[in-house]
Amino acid sequence: MSDCLFCKIVRGEIPAKKVHEDEHVLAFHDINPIAPVHFLIIPKAHVASLYECEAGHEPALGRMLAVAGRLAREQGATDGFRTIINTGRVGRQEVYHVHIHIVGGPDVLPGMLKR
Ligand code: AMP
Ligand code: ZN
Repeated sequence: MSDCLFCKIVRGEIPAKKVHEDEHVLAFHDINPIAPVHFLIIPKAHVASLYECEAGHEPALGRMLAVAGRLAREQGATDGFRTIINTGRVGRQEVYHVHIHIVGGPDVLPGMLKR
């Protein structure tokens, strides 16, 4: 059994406010939102980060992006949103189970990284 936090959410051992679930992916609200709309889309099968992803993960990775726009719109991000995948130490990844952040809301987000 995986000790991973997001695997525990997939198994229902830790509660989450689910946004979407299908055979490949789960989406749920971020516990510490940085914008009015902030949810995460994860593959149900554990993979630690984009570094570990390979061809076998393509169905889940594809589904994560394929549902993002519809879910974002349903959650109220109707005029754009940002997708973020943090990877590794430099990317400041905190939870080592791949996830896409979907961040948006009524207001325009701050710019990208400072130059
Ligand atoms: P990252 O830095 O990309 O690994 O982001 C991890 C994200 O997971 C953060 O935005 C956290 O707020 C979020 N998070 C941590 N624990 C939970 C949880 N139990 N339920 C929902 N989101 C969580
Ligand atoms: Zn996991």
